Amino acid sequence: MQFPKAEISAVKQLIESSKNIVITTHHRPDGDAMGSSLGLYNYLKLKGCNVNVITPSDYPDFLTWLPSNDVVINFEAAGHTAKELVNNADLIFCLDFNWLSRVEGMEGLLRSAAAKKVLIDHHLDPENVYDFVFSFTEACSTSELIYRFIDALGDVKMINKDIAECLYCGIMTDTNSFRYSSMKADVHRIIAELMEAGAENYRIHERVYDTSTENRLRLLGFSLKEKLTVLPEFNTAYLALSQSELEMFNHKSGDTEGLVNYALSINGIKFAAFFSEKDGMIKISFRSKGNFSVKEFSGKYFSGGGHKNASGGRSDLSLSDTLKKFLDLLPVYKNELNSVE
Ligand code: 5GP
Ligand code: MN
Repeated sequence: MQFPKAEISAVKQLIESSKNIVITTHHRPDGDAMGSSLGLYNYLKLKGCNVNVITPSDYPDFLTWLPSNDVVINFEAAGHTAKELVNNADLIFCLDFNWLSRVEGMEGLLRSAAAKKVLIDHHLDPENVYDFVFSFTEACSTSELIYRFIDALGDVKMINKDIAECLYCGIMTDTNSFRYSSMKADVHRIIAELMEAGAENYRIHERVYDTSTENRLRLLGFSLKEKLTVLPEFNTAYLALSQSELEMFNHKSGDTEGLVNYALSINGIKFAAFFSEKDGMIKISFRSKGNFSVKEFSGKYFSGGGHKNASGGRSDLSLSDTLKKFLDLLPVYKNELNSVE
């Protein structure tokens, strides 16, 4: 994975000459989106840049300990400020997404921005709207790419505790604690470097994974006991939560993060889905084991995308009609699902 030299030196000049830099990421940012954004933010700050981080929406409480979290501007809560910053920017970094539609309500603003746009991402098929594209699908996370980007700029020695904690968090969350096949030996070496730069691994794990509210844990219990459907004939399991069920547990952003992985953890299950209802829209998470591509499945039927084994999508149908659509599709994939290696 090599960042091309010519592009790196052009972006280096852009960073040096830009008066205002904006970093943004996808809607409902996850650990990698926030870790890569704040990792890059803390690095550019150290370089003396004037830089702001704008998220298209809020994000889970278990990410608010990230160094410099307090500077983040949420477009949904502070649209006016966000607009001004984007319109005055010379340079915009787009992190952890490939299509501009992934920023939802911010899409028009970003599309019409005069600033140069740099994409750093690890999803397939980036949209052709960026001035510079650093897209590596073999990377485990965008946070890994930010480490490599800083390295390519010749500044790896500048990685301090703050930057290291952000990048550690992004790599940890996008690899489900270093367990996916994307977690190569090289990335373990990067993790070692981040620990030597000050990232305290045990604290980061604790802050992300051991800070649930009681409500969140009880929602998990309810979901697994009452809302999990297992379909062995299709090697499939899924969970679905209506808005009123979520409200019973005073649901907050991030409370259902990781729920879909429980469905996938059942022996023999190759395909898992999680459906949640919010404001008349159904958000879906898909996960798979082996060669069944949930990226293709969500792209084809649920206006989504992502990676081969982890993707997301949406549906404008009601929750029950969405489930019916999903269940009607399973027979089409029965042979494929039954033969997953
Ligand atoms: P999650 O299920 O955790 O929300 O998302 C899993 C993966 O799918 C992530 O890599 C995420 O970027 C991608 N993803 C989630 N929702 C969407 C979506 O609506 N559209 C696209 N293209 N990708 C998505
Ligand atoms: Mn990511």
